[in-house]
Amino acid sequence: ERAREILERTKERDTNKLGVEAMELLEAYGIPTPQGAIVSEKNAAVEAAKDIDGDVVMKIVSPDILHKSDIGGVEVGVPDEEVADTFDDLIARARNYQPDATILGVQVQEMADLDAGTETIVGINRDPQFGPLVMFGLGGIFVEVLEDATFRVAPVSEPEATEMIDEIDSAPLLRGARGREPVDEAGVVETIQRISQLVTDFPAILELDINPLVATPDGVAAVDIRATVD
Ligand code: ADP
Ligand code: MG
Repeated sequence: ERAREILERTKERDTNKLGVEAMELLEAYGIPTPQGAIVSEKNAAVEAAKDIDGDVVMKIVSPDILHKSDIGGVEVGVPDEEVADTFDDLIARARNYQPDATILGVQVQEMADLDAGTETIVGINRDPQFGPLVMFGLGGIFVEVLEDATFRVAPVSEPEATEMIDEIDSAPLLRGARGREPVDEAGVVETIQRISQLVTDFPAILELDINPLVATPDGVAAVDIRATVD
């Protein structure tokens, strides 16, 4: 029901790209997202960072900027005392990149533990022949380089989701290669299944990517989400 409301709301807008709403959609489907807030003022950014334990991640929020880090729109590991300056920097970089960009604000987000975790991708799109497809692969900066991904037609069962992990070349990375602690594989499997349910339930969702879904030994977190709706 909540997911339906979120999608209804987006229909009234002049864009078919979802950013923040996509995060709400995932929450409605029980997929963990990091704690955070979207703010349009420097003071609010400082307050938001105080509510979050430790350093934060700050990101520009704009429907005109799809690859945020390409334009310097993502700062990770920001300590509280640098939040105000970072807010100004992010806005300035976005303006510099595209002077007339619509800037919705800055997202202040809890840090995921990338040292203990691995960046993966879970995505969905619609194939004219096969219908809704779910993609799983290695995420982050390696995604284009390694092209390590696998696909299934939604909805995906639990054994199928586990098979998807088996199939990628980097599976050992998730399962504890070189003395690393294995990540929460059940969390990854559940996320694949929930996403496949979401795309099955809502034909209006044309495309959705979680990149990255950070998988750590303690759980998973969808830290960046992009979606296109009909
Ligand atoms: P974009 O893909 O638009 O450049 P992301 O939100 O994916 O923006 O951020 C880029 C990278 O920054 C991620 O792939 C990840 O390495 C890092 N990152 C982003 N958010 C977090 C977070 N909450 N915790 C830790 N690392 C993060
Ligand atoms: Mg990303």
